[in-house]
Amino acid sequence: MSTQKERFNIEIENIKAVCPLGEVVGAQMIDENKIPVISCEGGCFRGEVARLAAHLVGKQEPFMRGCHGEMFTAPKSAMADWAQKAEKVIVIDGCFMRCHGRIMENIIDKKNMIQFDALSIYNKNNKYTDIMLYDEVPEKERKELAQKIAENVLSDLQKFN
Ligand code: SF4
Repeated sequence: MSTQKERFNIEIENIKAVCPLGEVVGAQMIDENKIPVISCEGGCFRGEVARLAAHLVGKQEPFMRGCHGEMFTAPKSAMADWAQKAEKVIVIDGCFMRCHGRIMENIIDKKNMIQFDALSIYNKNNKYTDIMLYDEVPEKERKELAQKIAENVLSDLQKFN
């Protein structure tokens, strides 16, 4: 089996920019020793339910929703500092592509990450495989799926306590 990795670089400008709110929340989360939860937030239905699930997980102790945008693009921000200092970072990606998990692996130590593929949790009968737009699934059903993902993730996370 080949272990060769293909990589590419993205150039990001203005990396000293920070979000005022992110500065306050990031610093507070470091003080409170919270574990950040980020999601892929992909533009499709899969990203949408992963985002909803991350919000639900982030409401439970000792977790809190983190902003992946600042973690990835603003290395001097309190939000990025939080990701570096946190005991673990939880990543809930929308599908097997693990887009945000693969980026995060370049920012913090991979062993400090716990990654989830949300699609594999709720798509056992392939019902959602071909859906692109989030509003192709009724809101109530999206919320139920997010709840299922969140419960599954929280249950799995107990193993790491
Ligand atoms: S993990 Fe899947 S849903 Fe999320 S951004 Fe990547 S391809 Fe889209």
